[in-house]
Amino acid sequence: MTQTTARPILWIVIPCYNEEQVLPLTAPMFLNKLHTLAEKGKISENSRVLFVNDGSKDKTWEIIRGLAQQDGHYLGICQSRNRGHQNAVLAGLMEARDKCDITISIDCDGQDDLDAMDEMVEEYWRGSEIVYGVRSKRDTDTFFKRFTAESFYKLMRTLGAETVYNHADYRLVSSRVLNHFADFEEVNIFLRGMFPLVGFKSSTVSYERAERLAGKSHYPLRKMLALAFNGITSLSVKPISMITGAGIVFSLIGLIIAVWAVVEAILGNTVAGWASTLCVICLLGGIQLISLGVIGQYVGKTYLEAKRRPRYIISERTWEENKRHWIEENKDCRMNEQEQ
Ligand code: UDP
Ligand code: MG
Repeated sequence: MTQTTARPILWIVIPCYNEEQVLPLTAPMFLNKLHTLAEKGKISENSRVLFVNDGSKDKTWEIIRGLAQQDGHYLGICQSRNRGHQNAVLAGLMEARDKCDITISIDCDGQDDLDAMDEMVEEYWRGSEIVYGVRSKRDTDTFFKRFTAESFYKLMRTLGAETVYNHADYRLVSSRVLNHFADFEEVNIFLRGMFPLVGFKSSTVSYERAERLAGKSHYPLRKMLALAFNGITSLSVKPISMITGAGIVFSLIGLIIAVWAVVEAILGNTVAGWASTLCVICLLGGIQLISLGVIGQYVGKTYLEAKRRPRYIISERTWEENKRHWIEENKDCRMNEQEQ
């Protein structure tokens, strides 16, 4: 359905996990934005809002289905189970890529300023194929969240994983880029670090991030650390070379200490202090274990990649509901036909 009309078809892709509280508030906001952009002549009237239900355990999917029945601009797909935010966004983008010209991925909790979409689309008109939404300030975050998030970007950079500073997953991507992105077949995905690898002309748009409108965050510290670690190990093998470097440094220190011990022994000075020796042993043991752990992570990831399991499985689509009902309703007739 990709067509080079003057006005691009936009699909807003929204991952949703247990969002029954916030979805009824934000869904009309997304639709309004779609209409305003269409009225301004920036996008086609055939644009859509696509919700991706990431295996929610609450009423999220029922709400999405209800919205789709209410207004044809709302669409929904349902993942067969919870696979996490990154896989949900990927499922939505892959679903959308051959049905539209541009996509904008955004969280469903109303934290990201929808008005930034105007500027994103402007940037697309100016020739950018990827537009990264970048948070201008983090006033609404707690000190702890701000500190951990900013340290995360700095650490990523030091460890060789280039990402756009303060950019999460609020982003415009053209279907042309998505078609190339589909060739990145890895199972461990970290979208914000992978899109810059695709290339093409890109730009940034800054926006202010507000508080969640309702419900609570699904990213506690444990998940944030897992995301950071996944990001680093997915994008870079620099930690492994750093471990090798550390190994060389510590071996050299060991060698120097050994020479020193021999010299002291020859000079007749008894070496005092078991405690300090034990400290060094423990320290080195610890460093070795951490290093093995990091290398183990890479080996484990290679194992997961080798299996080539699907990254998402879509179990339902709102626009296939009628078809499903029709099949169910006509099951008896078809069985009769087959028997004859
Ligand atoms: N989300 C998801 N699957 C998950 C966890 C979260 O699809 O397993 C969605 C969630 O519904 C939201 C977005 O990812 O739209 C970001 O999550 P959240 O707002 O909880 O994260 P935070 O903004 O606190 O970092
Ligand atoms: Mg949020």
